[in-house]
Amino acid sequence: MTRPIYNRVALIGLGLIASSMAHAIRAGGLVGEIAGHAKSAETRGVALEIGLCDHVYATAAEAVQGADLVVLAVPVGAMAAIAAEIGPHLAPGATVTDVGSVKQAVIEAVAPHIPEGVQFIPGHPMAGTEYSGPRSGFASLFQNRWWLLTPAPEVDPVALTRLEDLLKAMGAKTNRMEPAHHDQVLAVVSHTPHLIAYTMVGVADHLAQVSNSEVIEYSASGFRDFTRIAASDPTMWRDVFLTNKDAVLDILGRFAEELFVLQRAIRMGDGEHLFDYFTRTRAIRRGIIEAGQDTAAPDFGRGAGPAKPAPGA
Ligand code: NAP
Repeated sequence: MTRPIYNRVALIGLGLIASSMAHAIRAGGLVGEIAGHAKSAETRGVALEIGLCDHVYATAAEAVQGADLVVLAVPVGAMAAIAAEIGPHLAPGATVTDVGSVKQAVIEAVAPHIPEGVQFIPGHPMAGTEYSGPRSGFASLFQNRWWLLTPAPEVDPVALTRLEDLLKAMGAKTNRMEPAHHDQVLAVVSHTPHLIAYTMVGVADHLAQVSNSEVIEYSASGFRDFTRIAASDPTMWRDVFLTNKDAVLDILGRFAEELFVLQRAIRMGDGEHLFDYFTRTRAIRRGIIEAGQDTAAPDFGRGAGPAKPAPGA
Protein backbone atom coordinates (compact mmCIF):
# COMPACT_ATOMS: atom_id res chain seq x y z
CA MET A 1 0.00 0.00 0.00
CA THR A 2 1.46 3.38 -0.99
CA ARG A 3 1.26 6.27 1.44
CA PRO A 4 -0.33 8.73 1.64
CA ILE A 5 -3.45 6.75 0.68
CA TYR A 6 -5.35 9.98 -0.10
CA ASN A 7 -3.96 13.42 -0.88
CA ARG A 8 -6.60 15.45 0.91
CA VAL A 9 -9.38 14.28 3.21
CA ALA A 10 -12.27 16.55 4.20
CA LEU A 11 -13.82 15.75 7.57
CA ILE A 12 -17.34 17.19 7.78
CA GLY A 13 -18.27 17.25 11.46
CA LEU A 14 -15.40 17.30 13.96
CA GLY A 15 -16.69 15.26 16.89
CA LEU A 16 -15.61 11.97 18.48
CA ILE A 17 -15.43 9.92 15.29
CA ALA A 18 -13.87 12.55 13.00
CA SER A 19 -11.33 13.67 15.61
CA SER A 20 -10.34 10.04 16.24
CA MET A 21 -9.90 9.61 12.49
CA ALA A 22 -7.74 12.74 12.37
CA HIS A 23 -5.49 11.42 15.16
CA ALA A 24 -5.22 7.96 13.56
CA ILE A 25 -4.53 9.45 10.12
CA ARG A 26 -1.79 11.69 11.49
CA ALA A 27 -0.24 8.90 13.57
CA GLY A 28 0.09 6.73 10.47
CA GLY A 29 0.89 9.47 7.93
CA LEU A 30 -2.05 8.12 5.91
CA VAL A 31 -3.26 11.29 4.17
CA GLY A 32 -1.47 14.30 2.67
CA GLU A 33 -3.59 16.96 4.37
CA ILE A 34 -6.73 17.19 6.47
CA ALA A 35 -9.44 19.78 5.82
CA GLY A 36 -12.34 20.14 8.23
CA HIS A 37 -15.67 21.79 8.86
CA ALA A 38 -18.04 21.80 11.83
CA LYS A 39 -21.22 23.74 12.47
CA SER A 40 -20.03 25.97 15.30
CA ALA A 41 -17.17 28.45 15.30
CA GLU A 42 -16.22 27.09 18.72
CA THR A 43 -15.60 23.54 17.42
CA ARG A 44 -13.76 24.89 14.38
CA GLY A 45 -11.54 26.91 16.71
CA VAL A 46 -10.74 23.88 18.87
CA ALA A 47 -9.93 21.81 15.77
CA LEU A 48 -7.32 24.36 14.73
CA GLU A 49 -6.01 24.88 18.26
CA ILE A 50 -5.31 21.19 18.88
CA GLY A 51 -4.11 20.53 15.33
CA LEU A 52 -6.85 18.13 14.20
CA CYS A 53 -6.95 19.76 10.76
CA ASP A 54 -4.49 21.58 8.53
CA HIS A 55 -7.28 23.83 7.24
CA VAL A 56 -10.68 24.57 8.77
CA TYR A 57 -13.51 26.11 6.75
CA ALA A 58 -16.69 27.92 7.73
CA THR A 59 -18.74 25.94 5.19
CA ALA A 60 -18.80 22.28 4.15
CA ALA A 61 -18.84 23.36 0.49
CA GLU A 62 -15.43 25.03 0.86
CA ALA A 63 -13.98 22.15 2.90
CA VAL A 64 -14.65 19.48 0.24
CA GLN A 65 -13.02 21.37 -2.62
CA GLY A 66 -10.05 19.42 -3.99
CA ALA A 67 -10.58 16.54 -1.55
CA ASP A 68 -10.17 13.00 -2.89
CA LEU A 69 -11.89 11.64 0.23
CA VAL A 70 -14.85 13.27 2.01
CA VAL A 71 -16.06 11.84 5.33
CA LEU A 72 -19.52 12.83 6.58
CA ALA A 73 -19.21 12.58 10.38
CA VAL A 74 -22.29 14.54 11.46
CA PRO A 75 -25.44 13.21 13.20
CA VAL A 76 -27.59 11.10 10.86
CA GLY A 77 -30.33 13.76 10.77
CA ALA A 78 -27.86 16.35 9.39
CA MET A 79 -26.59 14.20 6.48
CA ALA A 80 -29.18 15.25 3.83
CA ALA A 81 -28.57 18.99 4.15
CA ILE A 82 -24.78 18.54 4.13
CA ALA A 83 -24.92 16.28 1.07
CA ALA A 84 -27.09 18.82 -0.78
CA GLU A 85 -24.59 21.55 0.07
CA ILE A 86 -21.42 19.71 -0.96
CA GLY A 87 -22.78 17.86 -4.04
CA PRO A 88 -21.91 20.57 -6.61
CA HIS A 89 -18.43 21.11 -5.09
CA LEU A 90 -17.15 17.52 -5.06
CA ALA A 91 -14.04 16.85 -7.15
CA PRO A 92 -14.42 14.40 -10.05
CA GLY A 93 -13.04 10.98 -9.00
CA ALA A 94 -13.50 11.70 -5.29
CA THR A 95 -14.93 9.20 -2.80
CA VAL A 96 -17.58 10.21 -0.28
CA THR A 97 -18.12 8.05 2.77
CA ASP A 98 -20.02 8.56 6.02
CA VAL A 99 -19.80 7.15 9.55
CA GLY A 100 -23.50 7.26 10.45
CA SER A 101 -24.90 4.62 12.80
CA VAL A 102 -27.84 3.86 10.48
CA LYS A 103 -27.29 2.98 6.82
CA GLN A 104 -30.55 2.85 4.83
CA ALA A 105 -31.68 6.32 5.94
CA VAL A 106 -28.25 7.82 5.25
CA ILE A 107 -28.15 6.30 1.77
CA GLU A 108 -31.60 7.74 1.00
CA ALA A 109 -30.44 11.14 2.31
CA VAL A 110 -27.04 11.31 0.62
CA ALA A 111 -27.05 9.25 -2.61
CA PRO A 112 -29.34 11.60 -4.60
CA HIS A 113 -26.82 14.44 -4.15
CA ILE A 114 -23.72 12.54 -5.32
CA PRO A 115 -22.78 13.61 -8.86
CA GLU A 116 -21.69 11.30 -11.67
CA GLY A 117 -18.01 10.38 -11.39
CA VAL A 118 -17.98 10.49 -7.56
CA GLN A 119 -18.16 7.26 -5.56
CA PHE A 120 -20.39 7.03 -2.49
CA ILE A 121 -19.38 4.26 -0.08
CA PRO A 122 -21.50 4.30 3.10
CA GLY A 123 -19.72 3.15 6.26
CA HIS A 124 -20.05 2.69 10.00
CA PRO A 125 -17.22 2.26 12.53
CA MET A 126 -18.40 0.05 15.37
CA ALA A 127 -16.42 1.96 17.95
CA GLY A 128 -17.28 4.78 20.27
CA THR A 129 -17.40 6.16 23.76
CA GLU A 130 -20.04 8.16 25.61
CA TYR A 131 -17.97 11.32 25.00
CA SER A 132 -18.45 13.71 22.11
CA GLY A 133 -16.88 16.78 20.52
CA PRO A 134 -13.49 17.61 18.98
CA ARG A 135 -11.47 16.96 22.14
CA SER A 136 -12.88 13.47 22.74
CA GLY A 137 -11.07 11.63 19.95
CA PHE A 138 -8.02 9.39 20.25
CA ALA A 139 -5.94 7.52 17.67
CA SER A 140 -6.59 4.00 18.95
CA LEU A 141 -10.41 4.21 18.96
CA PHE A 142 -10.72 1.95 15.91
CA GLN A 143 -8.05 -0.61 16.89
CA ASN A 144 -9.44 -4.11 16.27
CA ARG A 145 -12.98 -2.73 15.81
CA TRP A 146 -15.23 -3.55 12.88
CA TRP A 147 -15.83 -0.86 10.27
CA LEU A 148 -18.82 -1.97 8.22
CA LEU A 149 -19.26 -0.76 4.64
CA THR A 150 -22.55 -0.99 2.75
CA PRO A 151 -21.60 -0.14 -0.88
CA ALA A 152 -24.03 -0.37 -3.79
CA PRO A 153 -23.15 -3.25 -6.18
CA GLU A 154 -22.09 -0.83 -8.94
CA VAL A 155 -19.47 0.98 -6.86
CA ASP A 156 -15.95 1.20 -8.32
CA PRO A 157 -13.96 -1.71 -6.78
CA VAL A 158 -10.72 0.29 -6.88
CA ALA A 159 -12.28 3.12 -4.84
CA LEU A 160 -13.69 0.57 -2.39
CA THR A 161 -10.35 -1.16 -1.84
CA ARG A 162 -8.61 2.19 -1.39
CA LEU A 163 -11.07 3.20 1.34
CA GLU A 164 -10.68 -0.21 3.01
CA ASP A 165 -6.90 0.27 2.94
CA LEU A 166 -7.28 3.54 4.86
CA LEU A 167 -9.63 2.03 7.45
CA LYS A 168 -7.35 -0.97 7.99
CA ALA A 169 -4.34 1.33 8.31
CA MET A 170 -6.25 3.09 11.13
CA GLY A 171 -6.46 -0.29 12.90
CA ALA A 172 -10.00 -1.32 11.94
CA LYS A 173 -11.24 -4.60 10.50
CA THR A 174 -13.56 -4.10 7.52
CA ASN A 175 -16.57 -6.01 6.27
CA ARG A 176 -19.14 -5.43 3.54
CA MET A 177 -22.85 -5.80 4.19
CA GLU A 178 -26.31 -5.04 2.77
CA PRO A 179 -27.63 -1.76 4.28
CA ALA A 180 -30.91 -3.34 5.50
CA HIS A 181 -29.01 -6.18 7.15
CA HIS A 182 -26.68 -3.68 8.81
CA ASP A 183 -29.62 -1.78 10.32
CA GLN A 184 -31.17 -5.00 11.66
CA VAL A 185 -27.90 -6.19 13.23
CA LEU A 186 -27.27 -2.78 14.80
CA ALA A 187 -30.79 -2.69 16.24
CA VAL A 188 -29.88 -5.87 18.16
CA VAL A 189 -26.30 -5.15 19.22
CA SER A 190 -26.44 -1.42 19.83
CA HIS A 191 -29.61 0.59 19.29
CA THR A 192 -32.07 -1.38 21.44
CA PRO A 193 -29.53 -1.90 24.27
CA HIS A 194 -29.02 1.87 24.35
CA LEU A 195 -32.77 2.43 24.60
CA ILE A 196 -32.97 -0.06 27.47
CA ALA A 197 -30.11 1.73 29.25
CA TYR A 198 -31.84 5.09 28.79
CA THR A 199 -35.03 3.59 30.21
CA MET A 200 -33.36 1.99 33.24
CA VAL A 201 -31.60 5.22 34.14
CA GLY A 202 -34.90 7.06 33.74
CA VAL A 203 -36.61 4.58 36.10
CA ALA A 204 -33.82 4.97 38.66
CA ASP A 205 -34.12 8.73 38.37
CA HIS A 206 -37.77 8.50 39.43
CA LEU A 207 -36.80 6.20 42.32
CA ALA A 208 -33.98 8.49 43.41
CA GLN A 209 -36.54 11.12 44.23
CA VAL A 210 -38.09 8.64 46.68
CA SER A 211 -34.98 7.09 48.19
CA ASN A 212 -32.80 10.19 48.22
CA SER A 213 -29.44 9.62 46.53
CA GLU A 214 -29.08 5.90 47.27
CA VAL A 215 -29.23 5.10 43.56
CA ILE A 216 -26.11 7.16 42.95
CA GLU A 217 -24.40 6.13 46.16
CA TYR A 218 -24.66 2.41 45.38
CA SER A 219 -24.28 2.65 41.61
CA ALA A 220 -21.09 0.54 41.56
CA SER A 221 -23.18 -2.46 40.55
CA GLY A 222 -24.62 -3.10 37.04
CA PHE A 223 -26.41 0.25 37.05
CA ARG A 224 -23.16 2.13 36.57
CA ASP A 225 -22.69 0.68 33.10
CA PHE A 226 -26.23 1.71 32.20
CA THR A 227 -25.46 5.30 33.25
CA ARG A 228 -22.34 5.31 31.09
CA ILE A 229 -24.30 4.26 28.02
CA ALA A 230 -27.16 6.65 28.87
CA ALA A 231 -24.68 9.56 28.93
CA SER A 232 -24.22 9.27 25.14
CA ASP A 233 -24.94 12.25 22.89
CA PRO A 234 -28.70 13.06 22.83
CA THR A 235 -28.72 14.43 19.25
CA MET A 236 -26.97 11.41 17.82
CA TRP A 237 -29.24 8.95 19.60
CA ARG A 238 -32.43 10.82 18.82
CA ASP A 239 -31.49 10.57 15.13
CA VAL A 240 -30.61 6.86 15.40
CA PHE A 241 -34.07 5.99 16.77
CA LEU A 242 -35.91 8.23 14.31
CA THR A 243 -34.09 6.69 11.34
CA ASN A 244 -33.83 3.00 12.34
CA LYS A 245 -37.42 2.92 13.53
CA ASP A 246 -38.67 -0.38 12.04
CA ALA A 247 -35.72 -2.53 13.09
CA VAL A 248 -35.66 -1.09 16.62
CA LEU A 249 -39.42 -1.55 17.08
CA ASP A 250 -39.11 -5.17 15.92
CA ILE A 251 -36.33 -5.94 18.42
CA LEU A 252 -38.12 -4.04 21.20
CA GLY A 253 -41.22 -6.22 20.64
CA ARG A 254 -39.10 -9.36 20.99
CA PHE A 255 -37.41 -7.91 24.06
CA ALA A 256 -40.76 -7.24 25.73
CA GLU A 257 -41.86 -10.85 25.08
CA GLU A 258 -38.68 -12.26 26.66
CA LEU A 259 -39.02 -9.89 29.59
CA PHE A 260 -42.55 -11.13 30.28
CA VAL A 261 -41.33 -14.74 30.25
CA LEU A 262 -38.59 -13.90 32.79
CA GLN A 263 -41.07 -11.88 34.86
CA ARG A 264 -43.35 -14.93 34.99
CA ALA A 265 -40.43 -17.23 35.95
CA ILE A 266 -39.61 -14.92 38.88
CA ARG A 267 -43.26 -14.75 39.97
CA MET A 268 -43.63 -18.56 39.77
CA GLY A 269 -40.29 -19.22 41.49
CA ASP A 270 -39.03 -21.08 38.39
CA GLY A 271 -35.32 -21.08 39.29
CA GLU A 272 -34.48 -23.67 36.68
CA HIS A 273 -35.71 -21.41 33.89
CA LEU A 274 -33.74 -18.45 35.24
CA PHE A 275 -30.58 -20.52 35.70
CA ASP A 276 -30.73 -21.95 32.17
CA TYR A 277 -31.39 -18.51 30.69
CA PHE A 278 -28.47 -16.88 32.51
CA THR A 279 -26.18 -19.79 31.56
CA ARG A 280 -26.93 -19.16 27.88
CA THR A 281 -26.32 -15.42 28.16
CA ARG A 282 -23.04 -16.01 29.97
CA ALA A 283 -21.83 -18.05 26.99
CA ILE A 284 -22.60 -15.08 24.70
CA ARG A 285 -20.38 -12.86 26.87
CA ARG A 286 -17.55 -15.40 26.61
CA GLY A 287 -17.94 -15.39 22.83
CA ILE A 288 -17.56 -11.59 22.72
CA ILE A 289 -14.33 -11.77 24.76
CA GLU A 290 -12.98 -14.58 22.57
CA ALA A 291 -13.72 -12.46 19.49
CA GLY A 292 -11.53 -9.70 21.00
CA GLN A 293 -14.42 -7.21 21.24
CA ASP A 294 -14.11 -6.65 25.01
CA THR A 295 -11.78 -7.46 27.88
CA ALA A 296 -12.21 -10.24 30.40
CA ALA A 297 -10.83 -7.98 33.16
CA PRO A 298 -13.18 -7.72 36.16
CA ASP A 299 -15.40 -4.64 36.04
CA PHE A 300 -15.09 -4.67 32.23
CA GLY A 301 -11.52 -3.33 32.56
CA ARG A 302 -12.93 0.13 33.20
CA GLY A 303 -11.35 0.65 36.58
CA ALA A 304 -9.39 3.80 35.70
CA GLY A 305 -9.49 6.69 33.25
CA PRO A 306 -12.47 8.27 31.55
CA ALA A 307 -12.62 7.46 27.84
CA LYS A 308 -12.41 3.71 27.37
CA PRO A 309 -13.70 2.47 24.00
CA ALA A 310 -17.18 0.99 24.03
CA PRO A 311 -18.77 -1.01 21.20
CA GLY A 312 -20.19 2.22 19.74
CA ALA A 313 -23.45 2.77 17.94
P1 NAP B 1 -20.20 14.29 18.00
O1 NAP B 1 -18.98 14.04 18.78
O2 NAP B 1 -21.44 14.73 18.69
O3 NAP B 1 -19.85 15.36 16.84
C1 NAP B 1 -20.73 15.72 15.84
C2 NAP B 1 -20.06 16.75 14.96
O4 NAP B 1 -20.95 17.07 13.89
C3 NAP B 1 -19.74 18.07 15.68
O5 NAP B 1 -18.49 18.51 15.26
C4 NAP B 1 -20.84 18.99 15.18
O6 NAP B 1 -20.42 20.34 15.11
C5 NAP B 1 -21.02 18.49 13.77
N1 NAP B 1 -22.31 18.85 13.20
C6 NAP B 1 -23.54 18.58 13.67
N2 NAP B 1 -24.48 19.06 12.83
C7 NAP B 1 -23.81 19.65 11.81
C8 NAP B 1 -24.18 20.35 10.65
N3 NAP B 1 -25.46 20.53 10.34
N4 NAP B 1 -23.20 20.86 9.86
C9 NAP B 1 -21.90 20.69 10.15
N5 NAP B 1 -21.48 20.03 11.24
C10 NAP B 1 -22.41 19.52 12.06
O7 NAP B 1 -20.63 13.03 17.10
P2 NAP B 1 -19.88 11.64 16.81
O8 NAP B 1 -20.03 10.77 18.01
O9 NAP B 1 -18.55 11.89 16.21
O10 NAP B 1 -20.90 11.07 15.71
C11 NAP B 1 -20.83 11.45 14.37
C12 NAP B 1 -21.49 10.37 13.53
O11 NAP B 1 -20.87 9.12 13.83
C13 NAP B 1 -22.99 10.20 13.80
O12 NAP B 1 -23.66 10.02 12.59
C14 NAP B 1 -23.04 8.92 14.62
O13 NAP B 1 -24.25 8.21 14.38
C15 NAP B 1 -21.84 8.15 14.14
N6 NAP B 1 -21.23 7.23 15.10
C16 NAP B 1 -21.07 7.57 16.40
C17 NAP B 1 -20.52 6.65 17.29
C18 NAP B 1 -20.37 6.98 18.76
O14 NAP B 1 -20.31 6.07 19.59
N7 NAP B 1 -20.28 8.23 19.13
C19 NAP B 1 -20.10 5.40 16.84
C20 NAP B 1 -20.23 5.11 15.48
C21 NAP B 1 -20.80 6.02 14.62
P3 NAP B 1 -20.49 21.30 16.42
O15 NAP B 1 -19.52 20.71 17.40
O16 NAP B 1 -20.08 22.59 15.87
O17 NAP B 1 -21.91 21.23 16.90
